[in-house]
Parts: sequence; C-alpha cells; structure tokens
Amino acid sequence: MKKDVVIIGAGASGIICAIEAARRGRSVLVIDHMDSIGSKIRISGGGRCNFSNLHVSSGNYHSNNRDFCRSALAQFRPSDFTELLDRYHIGYREKTDGQLFCTGSSADILNVLKLETSRLGVSFSLRTTVRGLRRDHSMEVLTDRGSYRAASVVVATGGLSYPGLGATGLGHVIARQFGIKVTRLRPGLVPLTFDRKNAGRYSDLSGASLPVEIICRGHRTSGSMLFTHGGLSGPAILRASLSWEPGDDLAINLVPDLDMHVFFQERHHSKILLSNLLSSLLPKRFAHRWVELESVDQPLCRFGHKELLQIAARLHDWRLRPSATGGYEKAEVTVGGVDTSELSSKTMEAKSVPGLYFTGEVIDVTGDLGGYNLQWAWSSGFVAGHHA
Ligand SMILES: Cc1cc2nc3c(=O)[nH]c(=O)nc-3n(C[C@H](O)[C@H](O)[C@H](O)COP(=O)(O)OP(=O)(O)OC[C@H]3O[C@@H](n4cnc5c(N)ncnc54)[C@H](O)[C@@H]3O)c2cc1C
Repeated sequence: MKKDVVIIGAGASGIICAIEAARRGRSVLVIDHMDSIGSKIRISGGGRCNFSNLHVSSGNYHSNNRDFCRSALAQFRPSDFTELLDRYHIGYREKTDGQLFCTGSSADILNVLKLETSRLGVSFSLRTTVRGLRRDHSMEVLTDRGSYRAASVVVATGGLSYPGLGATGLGHVIARQFGIKVTRLRPGLVPLTFDRKNAGRYSDLSGASLPVEIICRGHRTSGSMLFTHGGLSGPAILRASLSWEPGDDLAINLVPDLDMHVFFQERHHSKILLSNLLSSLLPKRFAHRWVELESVDQPLCRFGHKELLQIAARLHDWRLRPSATGGYEKAEVTVGGVDTSELSSKTMEAKSVPGLYFTGEVIDVTGDLGGYNLQWAWSSGFVAGHHA
C-alpha cells in the first residue's frame, strides 16, 4: 500500500500530526501495535489529562538545546489545542500554575482526536508492529502485516517509559540506523528510591507528605514531597528527578515558607520540646523522626543561639541521597532522545534524511511536570504534519 505520509505511533504527537497532514490533503496512515489509540493520553493526569499549560515556554523544557522547542511551541500553542476542544464543546479548566485539565475525563480528548481523524479520512492500522524502515526511492515501513510505502515517514514512537502502554525503543533504533545521534536516555518524572539504610529510617513514614523546595544540580523545584514505602515521590520529587543522577544529594528546604532562625528566636524562651514545636510545621511522624535522627530533642529554651542557628540551617538545607529511580516502569517520561542537532526545529525533519521526521517524546526534549510534555507532543506533531 502507498500513502503520502505514514506515521509510526498513534500517541499524542502521531495523532495530531495525522490530523494536520490530512487537513492539508495528504493521504495518511497511522500504525500502532496497541489495540487503541492514545494509551498514554487516557491515563495522563490521573485520567483527567493535564493536556497543556498556559505558561508554556522553552524554559519549561530540558534538552541539550533548550531553544530547539521554541519554533514548534510558537507554531502550535496551548490556545490552538483548546480551540480544537472548544469546537467539540469539551470542557477544561486551569487548575494551578497554568495547568489545563479536562473537566470530564481524558476520554473526551481521545474522542475529539478520533472524530477529527475520521472526519479527515486518516487510516489506522492498529495491532500492527513496526519492525523497521527501509529507504530507496521512497520510504518503506516494514511491519508484521506487510509493508507500506510513503513519501514521508513520521516516527512518533515516544520514549521508553511505561512499556505496558506500548513504549518501545523503535524510534531510537530507526534514528541510529540512519546515522542520527541519540542522546543518553534515562527515566524522568519518576519516584526516587532509598538504599537499605534510608529505607530503614524512613519507610514507616509512608504516606507523610509536606511542601518543600529542592535543589538538585542547580535546578530548583517545589511542590509536595511524599514518603512512600521504598523512597520518595510527589510533584517536587518527580520534578527533581529530571536533574537527579546517581550519587547526587537532594538539598531539601523542609520549611520553604518560613525563616526558621527568626521563628526559633521568637520562641527562644519557650519550654516546648523541639520535636513538638516542629510538629506544628511538619507532619508529626516526620518531625519526630527528623529530630530523633539529628539527636537534638530538648526544650527550646535549653538551646544556645548558635545551636538554633545550625538547626535552622539544617531544616532549610536537609541533605538526602536517593539510591536510584523507580525506572521506566514508573517514569512518566524518558529524558533524552533523538539529538536535536540532527533535526530542523521548524519542521522536525531529519537534516540528513529528507522525508524522515521525528516528533514528540522520542526527541531529546523533556517537559516539566504540569502539561508540558503533552503540549510538546501536540506542537512537534503539528509541525511535522504541516510539512510531511
Ligand atoms: C502515567 C503517565 C502520566 C502522564 N501524565 C501526563 C500529563 O498529565 N501531562 C503531560 O503533559 N504529560 C503526561 N505524561 C507524558 C505524556 O503522556 C507523553 O510525554 C506523551 O504522551 C508522549 O506522546 P508521544 O506521542 O510522543 O508518545 P506516546 O504517547 O508514547 O506514543 C507512542 C506510540 O508509539 C507506539 N509504538 C511504539 N513502538 C511501536 C512499534 N514498534 N510498532 C508500532 N507502534 C509502536 C506506542 O504503542 C504508542 O502508542 C504522562 C505519562 C505517563 C506514563
């Protein structure tokens, strides 16, 4: 079978790419080995789909070249996606920090994408595994159900995270096959785990959560931090995981909204135990454990000024070293991917292979938590669909 455009991957970026290419009058086939389209869209945002963010800018993305995403983000903005939702009367709202969620469920977004692709005559071949790509006078996509020829092929196969939802490394394999560099890959937006020693110290705090600020490799993140059975999770940790490398300490500000030195000074004559005082600011179980491990529990009035200064400093800069990440099984995204220097930022076409495009998470562009990854998938997919 021959098509103008064959898209490998029916995730967010592949589908939006198909819609734009078909709108331009191109004949389009989307191939995916899953039973249905958009598996990750369905589960994203806890089923509510945090599909974009009003404050999107290149500063929200990690990449060897942070400027690479600018052009695509400008060509397809959050408002372009909400216009599509408006056309189908799908409700959405801003939660916090510009994060846009469906008011219903992520199934609403999937329905819009299905209706649009069907209206525009996009063909799908689901339950079809792509094995590879051959190139002579045109491109040939090789699958377990035969091969498809196309003038343009778009690789929208995503990253390695959540293999249960269809993730494979095919996109990276295809890139390397054509001599296109792939940067180092690692799990991102992922919980961090403890070694045996820290697990012994903190595992029984599972469920305790507190707002923190974290600095890791010079990147500052904030949000809540959650103790889990084997480590740490919560938005602040997921965000920090984008910078964290094995061997790194997290510098955690446990009381980001207070100056603890001033707070202690104002109460210096009090007979309250430090652990009880801290329990008014931190989850009680954690406050008691922290004080126990620091071996500093006594009435506040017994501390000298210097000691309180040191305790305040440790509360604002508590060092904790995770041992590993939860891996691709638990990672929302893959950090790294097809090297941006190999692609045109305006079209997503490979510079060395005319007719071959990459979009979405398979590229070395990773968004922060908060709708930025889906926005990147929409923007890069649209751009490829506009040129393929
Ligand atoms: C649990 C979870 C929650 C998330 N929540 C959010 C959120 O709320 N907001 C946000 O912005 N981002 C979120 N993300 C990230 C976001 O979902 C992804 O970044 C985005 O979906 C990537 O889109 P994509 O089209 O590039 O890749 P994908 O959506 O991964 O699509 C790739 C497609 O390629 C197919 N494929 C792979 N290999 C083959 C092959 N060999 N043959 C045929 N088909 C193949 C796969 O089946 C898949 O359908 C979340 C991710 C996870 C895992």
